[in-house]
Amino acid sequence: MKQIISEKDIEKKVREIAEQITKDYADKTPIFVGILNGSFIFLADLVRELGIDLEVDFMKVQSYDGHKSTGTVHLAKDISTEITGRDVVIVEDIIDSGLTINFLVHRINESAPSSVAVATLLFKKEVAQLNFELDYVGFEIPPDYVVGYGLDHNQKMRNLKAIHVLDHQDDLA
Ligand code: 5GP
Repeated sequence: MKQIISEKDIEKKVREIAEQITKDYADKTPIFVGILNGSFIFLADLVRELGIDLEVDFMKVQSYDGHKSTGTVHLAKDISTEITGRDVVIVEDIIDSGLTINFLVHRINESAPSSVAVATLLFKKEVAQLNFELDYVGFEIPPDYVVGYGLDHNQKMRNLKAIHVLDHQDDLA
């Protein structure tokens, strides 16, 4: 396992993103929609750095089996808040192919919110295919499988404080 982003660099980046969001939503009360499970740590750290009123809700989607994308997105838990006319910020841990975030933005737009923004800690820019611009991006990373800071390998390793790339000895089978 090789560390690619340190705990300190994550902290700094989360503060920078929070500062920008605080400016952008100065007189609004956005709803932050965390995408489970991977975004729970990023969301928790991000909202505590924000200087605005806000609400939090969650959606859960599944597209991965182990470390491989299945190519289809399944909605396992929808939001419970009424978002029509509201400002929504989707909070993702990572955008890889873009399949999940394209699905989520489309799904949220169906409820006619006032605005939708996307914040992601990690972005695999080389492989992502998106229909829209991302609003807040932490780090652009190569298309390797990463773990830590909420991101799992077979549900484990989410509690690592830094972001690491798994290599072959780590058994990606
Ligand atoms: P996408 O639909 O963009 O291909 O993938 C999005 C979802 O796949 C993420 O929310 C995350 O759950 C999972 N995923 C994609 N790449 C990685 C990765 O490198 N590590 C981990 N742990 N999960 C990933």
